[in-house]
Amino acid sequence: MTASVETTLRGPEAYSLSRRVIDEMEASGVWPTPLNFELWLHYLGDPEGPLGREIRRILAADEPFTEATADMLAAEYLPRGRLTEEIRDAGRVLDRELSSVADAISKAHRSQAAYGHTLDKAASSLDTAGDGEALQTIVTGLSSATRKVQRENETLEKKLDASTREVARLREHLEQVRRDAMTDALTNLANRKAFDEHLAACCEAAETKSEPLTLAVIDIDHFKRFNDTWGHQTGDQVLRYVASVIGRSARAPRVAARYGGEEFAMIFPGETPAQVATALEAIRKEIASRSLRRRSTNDDLGAVTISAGFAVQKPDECGSTLLERADAALYASKRAGRNRVTSAADLDQAA
Ligand code: GH3
Ligand code: MG
Ligand code: MG
Repeated sequence: MTASVETTLRGPEAYSLSRRVIDEMEASGVWPTPLNFELWLHYLGDPEGPLGREIRRILAADEPFTEATADMLAAEYLPRGRLTEEIRDAGRVLDRELSSVADAISKAHRSQAAYGHTLDKAASSLDTAGDGEALQTIVTGLSSATRKVQRENETLEKKLDASTREVARLREHLEQVRRDAMTDALTNLANRKAFDEHLAACCEAAETKSEPLTLAVIDIDHFKRFNDTWGHQTGDQVLRYVASVIGRSARAPRVAARYGGEEFAMIFPGETPAQVATALEAIRKEIASRSLRRRSTNDDLGAVTISAGFAVQKPDECGSTLLERADAALYASKRAGRNRVTSAADLDQAA
């Protein structure tokens, strides 16, 4: 999903856009299937974009809007579909390279066998060769067979070189695709999918190394009010700003992610609860102390604040219950008046 549609769907126009999508689909005689709905969301969210132009062209040409049409448009224009398409393309290229290498190798095998045969024949002719002229013929034959094999080996080498380069290029491209799929487009932090993977890996590593592991969740306070007052574009700028403060604090082995709309998460492998509390306090203070300005108009936006909660992994605890406990600590921060950091351990003590 493009960042702008994604943002709109969490902003004040979310429901009116969705209602318009239904109306437009009905007016065009298109079934409101989940896929069509997604296509129309992107179309109406960005009517002048390439998807919008293509849908308008199809409707204007009175072409039927079938399931196949929807699949084709999704593969071409929806980011999720494009990803699948890129991976399929990569598979096709790899397949082609592998079969061309396999061909070259089997051809080389055949000509090596033929060369061996030529050598055998020459050896037995040598036994019976009487004069210099006969010898000369045998040697000429051998050297031309040798040259042929050399040429074929060179061709094989070139082909292998070209394939190696193509596969390296492909690997780089797939690495980029993988990075994109794991990154949140608005903030450049890891996205939720990447974070869930990190968390599972960190939980396991912490158990293996018998090291402590802490998970924190951070949520912007009263962000809905902020969006309603200043608009979601300015809201997006604030999200980027908060993400940058969190990102700066998240040097490896710490991991930070945008977990959802205005919610972030951090993993602290191998740190004590006191160290984690200090780091979160530093983030909280830095954000609360900075008076923000709207880029377009230079309006003074005041400061935003964040609330955070964190929990230390218990023996054998997996990511999802750790997350639940960190969440409970976050909500304790909210209930206690926001702009604060709460540890799940403090909740346990209170209870
Ligand atoms: P609380 O202090 O209890 O967290 O209140 P809140 O208003 O921050 O929380 P609530 O969950 O009610 O609202 C979250 C708001 O975050 C809703 C939406 O306007 C905003 N939001 C979520 N994702 C985005 C986004 O990508 N861009 C923008 N601009 N706003 C977003
Ligand atoms: Mg919030
Ligand atoms: Mg929230």
